[in-house]
Amino acid sequence: MSELKNKTAIVTGAGQGIGREIALSLAKNGANVVLIDISDKIFDVLKEIENLGVQGLAVKCDVSKAEDVEKAVKEAITKFGRIDILVNNAGIYPFKPILQMTEEDWDRVLDINLKGTFFMTKAVLPKMIEQRGGKTINIASIAGSMVGYPNLAHYSASKAGVVGFTKAVALEVAQYGINVNAISPGPIQTPGTEAIGLTKELYEQTVRSIPLGRIGLPEDVANLVVFLASDKSSFITGQNIVIDGGSTIL
Ligand code: NAP
Repeated sequence: MSELKNKTAIVTGAGQGIGREIALSLAKNGANVVLIDISDKIFDVLKEIENLGVQGLAVKCDVSKAEDVEKAVKEAITKFGRIDILVNNAGIYPFKPILQMTEEDWDRVLDINLKGTFFMTKAVLPKMIEQRGGKTINIASIAGSMVGYPNLAHYSASKAGVVGFTKAVALEVAQYGINVNAISPGPIQTPGTEAIGLTKELYEQTVRSIPLGRIGLPEDVANLVVFLASDKSSFITGQNIVIDGGSTIL
């Protein structure tokens, strides 16, 4: 329960879904958590974090805006004095066939999913370098990093980009004892995926494509994040760890 005691974590997209569960799991393991999101839902998550007996901070921030990100990270450092864990989770996945995809559609997805990861990482690394240690965990996806997904060309490009970014940065900061890893989830049940409005038939087809026979839960991803954020993973860096119930080994 106290594995991450006195550590400070930043989690983006922490208002709901995977990000919310990651924030709660880090808090349950003793970390103070900075919740970043464009949505007001982080203020509810903040109350849940504080009820767990750790400190939290909720900062409204669009990760695709450099000024927002720099301000949010400054606020986090002012409050906690250190940053040990960064989880780049904020991301969007609007389905669009390639022939209907506009430049705006493309830019929005790349700006949030990939550029947002760059902005956050660049803003946090100086503190981790000063501390001579830290854990950066980037939420990618099996889409792009492992398999193709129709109607998600922009998303797949952004997530393949996140994995490439992870490996390059891992090499640059290994000398400071900083670990940088990516996680690629398969289908996970979240408010975001529920909003897509899958038919019962498509949902059952998705479950059938997963050897372990179920859709993933936000806790599945959060448990892996806690491990990667802990000292138990200190010899793992630059990796893309797939968590998909076996769907990409078929
Ligand atoms: P979700 O339920 O849609 O939650 C994402 C959160 O991020 C929302 O609170 C959203 O706010 C926020 N957000 C969106 N744009 C943002 C921005 N520019 N700056 C800050 N926050 C922003 O998503 P999820 O399903 O939990 O997915 C989380 C991450 O896992 C994403 O990176 C996604 O690509 C990845 N992933 C998910 C799955 C899956 O099956 N769920 C699979 C593989 C990878 P709003 O609600 O106001 O937009």
